Amino acid sequence: MADGAFGLSEELARETAPVWEKVKGLVTPLEWPEQAKLISEINALKKERDAVILAHNYMTPEIFHGVGDYVGDSLGLAKEAAKSKAKVIVQAGVHFMAETSKILSPEKTVLIPDLRAGCSLASSITGADVRLIKQRYPGLPVVTYVNTTADVKAETDICCTSANAVQVVEWAAKEWGVDKVILIPDEFLARNVAAQTNVGIIAWKGRCEVHERFTAEDIAEMRAAYPGAEILAHPECPEEVLAASDFAGSTAAMIDYVVDRKPKQVVMITECSMASNVKGDVAGVDFIGPCNLCPHMKRITLENIRDCLKYMQFEVTVEPDMAERGRLAVQRMIDLPPPAIPARYDLIKAKHHVDVELI
Ligand code: SF4
Repeated sequence: MADGAFGLSEELARETAPVWEKVKGLVTPLEWPEQAKLISEINALKKERDAVILAHNYMTPEIFHGVGDYVGDSLGLAKEAAKSKAKVIVQAGVHFMAETSKILSPEKTVLIPDLRAGCSLASSITGADVRLIKQRYPGLPVVTYVNTTADVKAETDICCTSANAVQVVEWAAKEWGVDKVILIPDEFLARNVAAQTNVGIIAWKGRCEVHERFTAEDIAEMRAAYPGAEILAHPECPEEVLAASDFAGSTAAMIDYVVDRKPKQVVMITECSMASNVKGDVAGVDFIGPCNLCPHMKRITLENIRDCLKYMQFEVTVEPDMAERGRLAVQRMIDLPPPAIPARYDLIKAKHHVDVELI
């Protein structure tokens, strides 16, 4: 029997062999026959529906490697979707990502396989909250992390990602001629950005439930257990976690770090599927825990992606005026030149514990 066949028909084993090569060791041989059938079914439905699947870095490996047409972080996915000629976008990710895709591709049908796939960060703030913040701090620009709902983006001057947040904050301060900027909703991202800039930061108390749980003790334990391992952390983690790590950056920056440097042993302080998915693409690197699962991302499965395409469910729409205002904020960010040096939160350890004004 060929590697990856596991009782599959010769044709199905051949069709799914490239995926098996990437996911073997990440999925069990017991799961594979059912997953292989679903992958084949989904790929046929994509052609039938003229659809593409955007798979976030936090999707499980059988989705990420098996059916994702575009893989990456939320903004990268939305930008790819806007360029695609397909009529239908399936967002294998959470609801705010589907909204961002709809904002950037209003003419396309955007589907999400499970409407309950939310986000603790996105649900920490509403458009009404942002309007109140603007009343309290008139004249200050509002910079919003892309991990927000469409109604929050609509109240925003410019969006940012964890990779360009410092650049965007400095641009906004200069453009508005002010020395303070509102950066919402992630408190830890705001604190980590504040440590890299002289622009004052007003922040909101939103948290990513996956990254807020990591502690400096986790890092100390990993160092003791694996003295040679390189530790990479996401800037949605508390600042003491970043200070104890070797490198901190966005999901894309972490992937680049592993691909370019090929460390012998690496710890990725982020959502669990990140390490599994990079593992499928990089040989010879030993990935070690700890990691935390995002329960919202894990609502997306091969089964509900199949059903989503079969029954054209569940459509995500954004009210046109809201979409138009949100698009301005996202487009403003896209139009900025890429940062000369991507945000490297590990370079600012000495300045950690910078005060931010929390709303
Ligand atoms: S990992 Fe955090 S920011 Fe991303 S969807 Fe889950 S809760 Fe939201």
